[in-house]
Amino acid sequence: MRVLIVEDDPILQDSLMRAMRAAGYAIDLAGDGDLALGLLRGGGFDLVILDLGLPKVDGLQVLRQARANGCRTPMIILTARDGIEDRVKGLDLGADDYLAKPFSLVELEARVRALLRRGQGGMPLVSCGSLTYDTVGRRASMGDTAIELSLREISVLEALLARLGKVVSKDQLIETLCGYGEEVSANAIEVYVHRLRKKLEPAGVTIRTLRGLGYLMDKM
Ligand code: CA
Repeated sequence: MRVLIVEDDPILQDSLMRAMRAAGYAIDLAGDGDLALGLLRGGGFDLVILDLGLPKVDGLQVLRQARANGCRTPMIILTARDGIEDRVKGLDLGADDYLAKPFSLVELEARVRALLRRGQGGMPLVSCGSLTYDTVGRRASMGDTAIELSLREISVLEALLARLGKVVSKDQLIETLCGYGEEVSANAIEVYVHRLRKKLEPAGVTIRTLRGLGYLMDKM
């Protein structure tokens, strides 16, 4: 899952990036509205956290322009505590949710999960073989037994489950895992897939490697 954070305040930038990274999302950052619009044109984001008070192009303008350009990525706007008007305008312009500053990071994370879930068709539980994946709690299990996965493994699993029975290229997995300023090598992807494959095998799930194309997750 790839999240774009649009925020100009360095302290808030830092805490948002830490929280989202710790939750296992790949992060890109834009410090002004102009840069945000440029990144949004490139596409590939699953969610946007958008501050409204931004230099160059303000957040409401970013929202308006992005939606006018056909961008349908879910967006959470960050508004001032007393910014009721902005909140209403933002929602009218196509924001999916809002948080008033100051907000708790725990609440933000919950809103992010809820929006991402909606983006996946609102399916809280996804299954394959005897594997069940809870997209809300981000937990994998086989029957009553939890399958222990690292955050990176979870990110790979989510990407493969989102395209169950279809090929996901190595580049797509790299995209999923590496945010702004982070490097993930093709070798690292192979390692994560290898570990995931071992852990999911008992649940009757296979991850096939298609040379030169990528990976495909399916029931055995
Ligand atoms: Ca701001």
